[in-house]
This record gives sequence, C-alpha cells and structure tokens, in this order.
Amino acid sequence: MLKGNPEIGVYNRELPKGCELCRVGGKLVVFVTGECGDSCYYCPVSENRFGKDILYANEKQTNDVLDLIYEAYRMGANGAGITGGDPIVRLDRVIEIITKLKAEFGDDFHIHLYTSGRYINQDSLEELQRSGLDEIRFHPINKEYLVYVEKALKYSMDVGIEVPAIPGEERYLDFIVKWAENHGIKFVNINELEITERNASRLNSMGLRVSHGLAGSNKSSDMALSLLKNNKDCRINLHYCSSVYKDVVETRTRFLRTIKYSSKPYEEFTGEGTIIKAIVKSNMDLSQFGELENEKYTISYSVAKELLKQGKVDEVKVIEELPYGLRISESVESKSK
Ligand code: SF4
Repeated sequence: MLKGNPEIGVYNRELPKGCELCRVGGKLVVFVTGECGDSCYYCPVSENRFGKDILYANEKQTNDVLDLIYEAYRMGANGAGITGGDPIVRLDRVIEIITKLKAEFGDDFHIHLYTSGRYINQDSLEELQRSGLDEIRFHPINKEYLVYVEKALKYSMDVGIEVPAIPGEERYLDFIVKWAENHGIKFVNINELEITERNASRLNSMGLRVSHGLAGSNKSSDMALSLLKNNKDCRINLHYCSSVYKDVVETRTRFLRTIKYSSKPYEEFTGEGTIIKAIVKSNMDLSQFGELENEKYTISYSVAKELLKQGKVDEVKVIEELPYGLRISESVESKSK
C-alpha cells in the first residue's frame, strides 16, 4: 500500500532517514560547490551557482565552514544534507564539514550527501566513511554510473539512489528500481522534475511546462506516481518527493524552525515562515519593546499599530523579511490611514 499525499510525497514502506528529518525542517542545507563534472540537460541548479566554487549554508553564501555550525544552531538543525554541483569535486571540504558538524553536534547529527558518483572511488568512500557520513545518495545519470553505486555498498553508510522523473525515461527508471531492489540498495527517491530558468528552454522544447507549484513539470508527477504504483510491492523503500514539497513545504518548515530557535522577541511571524517587524521614530523611550538604532526603534508590528492608534507615533514602517535577513516587502502606515 502506498502512503502519503501525492501533493507532497508518496512512499511504499519507510521514508529514508534523511527525508524524515527534512520533513520536520531539521536539515541544514549545505551547498558545498557548484562545480560538477556532468552536464545534465535537466540540471535544476541555477545559473548563479552552477559551475562556481561557492559555499552556502542554507540560503547564506559564506567562505567559512564555521558559519555552517552557526547556521545549524540558528535553526536547531538535527542533521545536514550536502549538495551541489557534485560535492565530491571538493572532497577535502566535504570531509572538513562532516568532521566539524559531527564534532559539534555529535554522532546522531544525521548527514546525507548527493553525488552523481562520477568521482567516487575506494579512497573517497573510505574518507567519507571515516568522517561519519550516514547516507550517500547517487544520481546515476545512465546505467554506466551504477558501478559507482555498487562500490558504496561495501561501506557502512546507507546507500540510496535519487533520480528525477523525466517523462520519456519511464523504462530507465523502472530498470533503476529493479536494479536497486536486486542489489539491496536501501531506497530509491524519485523527484518531480523541476523546470528552472537554466533548464527551461530545453525542457519546454520537450513539451514540458511548469504546472505544479513553483517549478514542478507537467507529466513528471504522474509518471513518478505510476512508477510507484507499479512497484509498490518492491522490497526496498521507494519514495516520490514533489517539487511543491521541496520548494514550499521544506523551505517554509525550515524557516519556521529558524524563527522558533532564533527570532528576537519583537519579531512576529507569518504562516509562510516570514518575519514581520516595525520601525518607528519616537521621542518616548520604547526600549522595553525592542531595539534602538540610528534614533529609530525596531519593535513588534502589534505594538507599533497600537502606538499609531493612540497617536503616540506618526508613522510605522512595516518590514517583512525571510529569517536569514532578505527583505521581501516594506510599507508605511501613517495616522491618516
Ligand atoms: S549531476 Fe547533478 S549537479 Fe551535475 S549536472 Fe547533473 S543534475 Fe546538475
């Protein structure tokens, strides 16, 4: 029997551990480098990131691995997902990150990593195992890449496969599921194909359009769901993850979690995981309600509205921002309104 919700995700047995933690917004997203030795036509990585050797802790670009620890504390993370590009291109950095995260948060801090497998060999697998990697997810871009997946089976980390559901590739995906079952792979994750600015023209030329959430392609989720249905009795874990889930639910849950763990007392939040606060100028001492900077107070929007109603301030600047500081909107409310 299949479990879950087609809008979010469906699975036949159990969710992979990395996905379980992602569902509660508990995974720090480590984009370790945009470099990759492959050039998949459907690659969803943005132009700003692909091919560039840049590091992100969630949405924040950084040069310092210690920032990952700071960000993990900020969101109360109980694990991390290491992605790219192909992280194995920067294996030393990956090992440093895993080692530091494990040293700071302990062995139970669950870390999974994505790779096409192209650069995987015995040495890299040994180093990954020594560092404490819990789960490795391969994206075999063709059958020849399965040899890398097989190599990882000798190690203690969980081995999974993660592939996009590309309409037209039904037979390949069905082959992958059967291959994974016969080789004792722990899980196969099938992602809804995402149409992004970078891959849109190629995917559009194949008749694929965004029809689901922000980037989900038409036909992709139907294809993934029928693959799961046909293989529901498979002995390994099969899981379909929708792009709506990744773009909306995972991100929003992670934002709400960050707000819970590190927002300031005067910051209010919306169900979308954004922060609302207000800036006012006043001769009164409002320091009990917030913070003073450049002769203006940042306070809660509710308090600011009340002060405006009572005529104690002339206007209120309302700020909405994401929990990592990106401002989304700004508006002014004044006495006359
Ligand atoms: S392996 Fe992954 S990151 Fe590299 S090109 Fe393909 S989809 Fe993009």
